[in-house]
Amino acid sequence: MEKKQFQAESKRLLEMMINSIYTQKEIFLRELISNASDAIDKIYYKALTDSTLVFDQDHYYIKVTADAENRTLTIRDTGIGMTEEELEANLGVIAKSGSLAFKREHESKDGHDLIGQFGVGFYSAFMVADEVIVRSRALGSERAYQWQSTGAEGYTIEPCDKQDVGTEILLKIKENTEDENYDEYLEPYRLKAIIKKYSDFIRYPIKMDIADQ
Ligand code: ADP
Ligand code: MG
Repeated sequence: MEKKQFQAESKRLLEMMINSIYTQKEIFLRELISNASDAIDKIYYKALTDSTLVFDQDHYYIKVTADAENRTLTIRDTGIGMTEEELEANLGVIAKSGSLAFKREHESKDGHDLIGQFGVGFYSAFMVADEVIVRSRALGSERAYQWQSTGAEGYTIEPCDKQDVGTEILLKIKENTEDENYDEYLEPYRLKAIIKKYSDFIRYPIKMDIADQ
């Protein structure tokens, strides 16, 4: 399959994330949950003006699943999802002010705390994961697509199976190193604490699931 290259600016931000020495790597979860919440908001607002859409609250939630054995962490939402074109446009290119503002600040100063102040977005997943797989099905679409990347060398997009509308972000959590502990991002109690710390205000339910061992 053809590997597509990241836009130059995206690649630089991505490399910063991959090689990050930032201590608060935990904020990746805030970023992914905030994206999930935004995606549900989009359906919510659409339903306000589209009478064929019913916003049934029970159906809208975010689910975080840790599987320590397979070293995967999944953040799933029942939000608006992304088409193949949107996966390409949104995850291959940095167009968003938050990310750009962060990058500029980071280049001019040397403060690592800046990551915490700016929404660095989706790519922050690469601070804790060596592979990221996004499976998504857009509202109104019969098809689902998978975006996959192991980092700076590019990404692929291909069709996949997904029954429900929404998005699933699967992170293959890095192995521990001498000075970094990544196992903690597979521990339900630690994850709960991170969610409480940064995502307490999110207005959709955040469910936790512990994979069977
Ligand atoms: P921002 O949230 O500031 O726009 P991000 O880097 O966090 O930037 O995300 C980039 C874009 O990718 C989002 O604007 C959105 O269009 C898309 N996206 C990311 N995660 C999701 C998701 N879970 N569901 C739908 N779209 C998403
Ligand atoms: Mg975001």
